Amino acid sequence: MDYVKLINCMRCGMCLPACPTYKETFLETASPRGRVALVRKLQEGELDQSARLLEYLSLCIDCQACASSCPCGVNAGELVAEFTCERKAEDRLSFMEDLVLRKLLPHPDRLEAAIVPMRLYQRIGLQKLVRTLGILKMFPKPLDRMEGLLTDLPERPLRQVIQADMPARGAVRGTIGFFLGCVMSLIFSDASRATIKLLTLLGYRVITPKNQVCCGAPNMLSGDLAGLKDAARKNVNIFGGFDLDFIVTDCGGCGAELKKYSHHLNEPSVASFSNKVRDISQVLTMHADELKAILTPLPLKVTYHDPCHIAHCQGIRKQPRELLNLVPGLKYTELENADACCGGGGTYNIEKPQMADLILRRKLDTIRATGAEVLVTGNPGCLLQLKKGLMDHLPQVKIMHLTELLAKSIGV
Ligand code: SF4
Ligand code: SF4
Repeated sequence: MDYVKLINCMRCGMCLPACPTYKETFLETASPRGRVALVRKLQEGELDQSARLLEYLSLCIDCQACASSCPCGVNAGELVAEFTCERKAEDRLSFMEDLVLRKLLPHPDRLEAAIVPMRLYQRIGLQKLVRTLGILKMFPKPLDRMEGLLTDLPERPLRQVIQADMPARGAVRGTIGFFLGCVMSLIFSDASRATIKLLTLLGYRVITPKNQVCCGAPNMLSGDLAGLKDAARKNVNIFGGFDLDFIVTDCGGCGAELKKYSHHLNEPSVASFSNKVRDISQVLTMHADELKAILTPLPLKVTYHDPCHIAHCQGIRKQPRELLNLVPGLKYTELENADACCGGGGTYNIEKPQMADLILRRKLDTIRATGAEVLVTGNPGCLLQLKKGLMDHLPQVKIMHLTELLAKSIGV
């Protein structure tokens, strides 16, 4: 860990109001400033790695809202993640971590096979029965929460059915490599299908390599830096085999991780890969005039939630709003604290359910206040977390990925 990053904190406290865990606890140890101080003292050997101290650090959701508000460029979330990686580098992965991070995620075929029983569970009506009878209340809480997040799965994962090389419609403008995130392929396939349609409509040939692997974000979240580097090398090699103008993703979490590959691997091919990565909203806004000409009226009240991985990690805020405001008839209302975390945070919702629920509650209150009929966002973690929250507390509000809404307006 770069010690200089730790001593850059001047303890001003400007990050405190942005931190979701501080807002819920008012504890210094659950604030960015406190976490930087804890990691610094650990590095200096003045503190031991007690269970309580590690618990405080693990409460960080890695939303990186602190980085957006820090005048000194300190990123407490990233420092905590780096500390966790260094600490875990000395340990062996647990059985479950090894299974998920090394045996499943780097192998799309196995991952897809693993989800088949869940699809069957939904198709034969078992999910409805289990939920109606509240059977999972008798099982450990994490299982109940995981099941609660399980939304309707598509017939087949998009990776299995998508054409690997989609020609541009009309004159060819360029070639895009599409990074299809695992959750987008397995769960939100309609959104990624819409993304590819929009890109081909705008004149891009879209190549979706079927052998691409998980971006490695779950490895990083679990402190498995070696697993992340393996994923990065594989993806850089795979996409490096094509002559691409951009590498595009519609998954905020994947985009943030892909752009950071060069942070972990100091190799020219990795830097060239990361430099080409774009969130879909960045590419679509480059063609705002052409989009405007084909968008048709959608008389909907809409608001937008900024995923942390898009707003804080990639600094993308104006593009999704610009795109929404292109849609004729759409009434856009800004969400208060739109870039505040929703509480999803990868597996945070399962591991820290109480804190995740408190964070989610704040987000739902602000959504309610807009009176919106549709909440738009751009990250599968947020889609899962907010879909469940809306279903339970604001069922009148629908949630859509940005590209789904745009495709709906175009009628494709
Ligand atoms: S992390 Fe940044 S904003 Fe927070 S106390 Fe330190 S210098 Fe101030
Ligand atoms: S990453 Fe988020 S939760 Fe962690 S310290 Fe920063 S603002 Fe707080």
